[in-house]
Amino acid sequence: MSGPILIADDLVTERIALKARLAGSHNRIVQVKTRDELLSEVALERPDAIVMDIGFDNDHGVDLCRRLKSSRDSRDIPVILYGVRNDENARIAAFEAGADDCLENLPGERLLQALLRNLMRKRSSHDELTRRRALVDVGELSEAQVGFNARMELALIAPDMATAMSWRHALAPNFAGAIRVHTRKTILNVSDDASLAPDAVIIAEDPKASKQTLQLVSELRSRPATRGSVILFQAAGAAHDMTDMALDLGADAVAPAIASAKELAIRLETLVAHKREMDRLRAFVEDQLDVALRDPLTGLFNRRYLDCYLKKLSRDAAISGSAFSIMILDLDRFKAINDGHGHVVGDHVLQAVASRVIDSIRDVDLAARIGGEEFLVVLQGADGDRAETIAQRLRRVIADHPISTPLGATPVSVTTSVGIATSSDGRDPVQDVIEAADRALYLSKSGGRNQVTHAPLAGGSRA
Ligand code: GH3
Ligand code: MG
Ligand code: MG
Repeated sequence: MSGPILIADDLVTERIALKARLAGSHNRIVQVKTRDELLSEVALERPDAIVMDIGFDNDHGVDLCRRLKSSRDSRDIPVILYGVRNDENARIAAFEAGADDCLENLPGERLLQALLRNLMRKRSSHDELTRRRALVDVGELSEAQVGFNARMELALIAPDMATAMSWRHALAPNFAGAIRVHTRKTILNVSDDASLAPDAVIIAEDPKASKQTLQLVSELRSRPATRGSVILFQAAGAAHDMTDMALDLGADAVAPAIASAKELAIRLETLVAHKREMDRLRAFVEDQLDVALRDPLTGLFNRRYLDCYLKKLSRDAAISGSAFSIMILDLDRFKAINDGHGHVVGDHVLQAVASRVIDSIRDVDLAARIGGEEFLVVLQGADGDRAETIAQRLRRVIADHPISTPLGATPVSVTTSVGIATSSDGRDPVQDVIEAADRALYLSKSGGRNQVTHAPLAGGSRA
């Protein structure tokens, strides 16, 4: 459930004006007129955002903001301060206190709503990732350190090179990182290699080409190299004319022309720290999901994932009418390998076989370990002939190349028996195809092992 938006102002007229400007919001609007009211609402209601006059509580808006941002319980709540003098020190003090945005005047409806939309969206993605992180945390992985303490890479895009160079000169002393200068043209030539991605991009509005500068925001948002970068848009005048458009196109924040280099550097640091925290959470969640869905010995998918995959496969194949084949492999006389060489060698053989299986299939195919020495492979789009070719190749790759073991003993020879079944129009129930492949596997075993059998489907007469 979403929390309220708090409006904190000593003056009733200003509170009422702001409340009216938030009439279209889905959130409840709560007005507070004293410091105690503010703090108790924050503690009780977990607001989604706070919009506060910098003069609130006898000019203590900045102190209150700092207090909220330094407490674990409230630091994620976005704070917008208004009534901030157009003066470098005043603005810097507000951002240093942790304000998410600073405005000179009481914000108008469009600007206020755009800022809140942007800040609240970021906060809810963060909350959602934190929730998932807690859900998937099975304590097996240590937290990934994505870019921890890494130097920041900043791309600076100005209307022309001369302006960009003078900006760089101004930013450099305030900024602990590398700054690369670009024009609208040169940034688009940056390679799409995501490893070269800048952490942040500042786009300065070209007053002669505002529309093109705005378009650049969405262009950079959609390109692999800059998709995940922080984008700070600097307006050519007061920020509010551009803010809603720039934010809706994907900018993370908008600064007015009067913002100093130091102010931009402070904002970038906060925005990049937030982005890195999100990257770290996302990487952790993905790694944990991977752990939950894979067999730890071979790295192949486990049954749990296979079941989900098969459900989706049967829906998709039935709709598209494209063929698929299922192949089940069972190592021959594997018990004898364990008995003769020991369990550790047995494990090693399983790992080696698994990587040969993976090397024989395409990315769209799936390999899972479904039992001790049994594997199931789904071949998407593969008709009977293709499945047979792949199965024979895999059988040979396993049988013809004995597996070297870490203990340095003679390589271990192993063979596999394989059963295949194919749904040539994608419409057979997956379970029937698996059972047919299993029967075929049994025939390979009883026929002498180290062979491939392709089963007809029981329901093969289906029109
Ligand atoms: P068949 O040709 O009929 O398939 O004979 P088999 O010996 O391969 O079949 P059986 O089912 O009798 O034995 C399978 C063996 O696989 C028994 C079990 O100890 C072994 N096994 C199962 N899981 C693992 C594992 O994770 N590591 C090792 N090293 N062995 C395993
Ligand atoms: Mg078996
Ligand atoms: Mg076996």
